[in-house]
Amino acid sequence: MDFQLSEEEIAIRDLARDFARGECEPGAAQRDKDEAFPVEQIRKAGELGLMGLLVPEQYGGAELSNLALSLALIEINRVDASVGVTLSVHNSLTCGSINAWGTDDLKSRYLPKLASGEWLGGYALSETNAGSDAGSLQCRADKDGDDYVITGSKAWITSGDHADVLVLFARTDPDAGNKGITAFVVETASEGLSVGKKEPKLGLRSSSTTLIHLDGVRVPAKNVLGEVGQGFKVALHTLDGGRIGIASQALGIMEACLEASMKYAREREQFGKPIAQFQPIQWKLAEMSVKIDAGRLLIYNASALKDRGERHTREAATAKLVNSRGANWCASQAVQIHGGAGYCTDFPVERYFRDARITEIYEGTTEIQKLVIARSLLRG
Ligand SMILES: Cc1cc2nc3c(=O)[nH]c(=O)nc-3n(C[C@H](O)[C@H](O)[C@H](O)COP(=O)(O)OP(=O)(O)OC[C@H]3O[C@@H](n4cnc5c(N)ncnc54)[C@H](O)[C@@H]3O)c2cc1C
Repeated sequence: MDFQLSEEEIAIRDLARDFARGECEPGAAQRDKDEAFPVEQIRKAGELGLMGLLVPEQYGGAELSNLALSLALIEINRVDASVGVTLSVHNSLTCGSINAWGTDDLKSRYLPKLASGEWLGGYALSETNAGSDAGSLQCRADKDGDDYVITGSKAWITSGDHADVLVLFARTDPDAGNKGITAFVVETASEGLSVGKKEPKLGLRSSSTTLIHLDGVRVPAKNVLGEVGQGFKVALHTLDGGRIGIASQALGIMEACLEASMKYAREREQFGKPIAQFQPIQWKLAEMSVKIDAGRLLIYNASALKDRGERHTREAATAKLVNSRGANWCASQAVQIHGGAGYCTDFPVERYFRDARITEIYEGTTEIQKLVIARSLLRG
């Protein structure tokens, strides 16, 4: 497989790198401490065209490859995983699903605002009692004339209190199991929609994660995404792309861990020499580099399959599993290399350690990735 990057891909990677270093890095630690949403960074991302990377040019987007999105996400997450997840959900899950499943009407009403950054997108699948088992969701959507009326609650919604529009999943048929779920495009300004508790978190503290309550929210039937009863299929298809985004987040965190660890290991002296000269430290650095190289190839592979329109469910799950585990391992070793300093907030590795943890949980836990991979293998 040829992983030669195109000129466009190199340009977007470099743009994302400059954005990350110039706009995100300066206040990242403080925003994390204050749990402050990166409003300015998201505004700037819109200005730079980083909010519509997959959106077709006719709707105001950059119409780039999935590989280009992955390259951008790696650079941004290397510096600030809270900005990274906000942009990953927006680009992969919201824009990605509207673009893949929306009617021309839905695309022209929502994609231009999302691609320009005027609007921020969210993705509302999970509920308090329906996480890994998303097919058991209880939020109801009942047909009433030309509208659906949605009632229920959604849990852990990334950017829930800042999003203007959500791709939201609700049950249109209580007796049809997974086939009774429908996807809707829901504006958060709709009457009856309110933002609930903002979750205090271990990591990604500057990204917001909230409950969303829907009390008789009227959504026009023309805002159904895909077909009625096809929502679970929309969710699974979209998550294949989203998982490549989270794998890219994890890879960015790994790269940040290696960079910080190399710098510290060269500077810190014990027993009369830099700790980089001790073999146990060198082994940790080498192992980090191996995980980064392997993880990158898996991301490129899954992205390339998606770009060619080929099935990539197993490859996306594999990329997420390997990179998210790698991020947790690298972040733990980065703290170890920094010793006591790594446990304190003066160095960024403690933030990387906290941020890495979520990558094994959202958009399907590590255990669920294994189920997805095994099912794909056994299906033959
Ligand atoms: C910061 C954050 C942001 C999030 N953002 C979003 C968002 O924007 N939109 C959204 O819809 N959701 C979001 N989520 C929800 C996230 O996707 C879920 O938390 C995740 O899918 C796991 O579901 P759960 O928390 O209910 O865990 P559970 O499903 O209760 O799982 C608990 C444990 O049991 C294991 N387990 C469950 N079922 C099985 C099984 N069959 N076999 C083996 N092990 C199993 C799991 O792997 C896990 O270890 C977010 C969550 C967080 C924390």
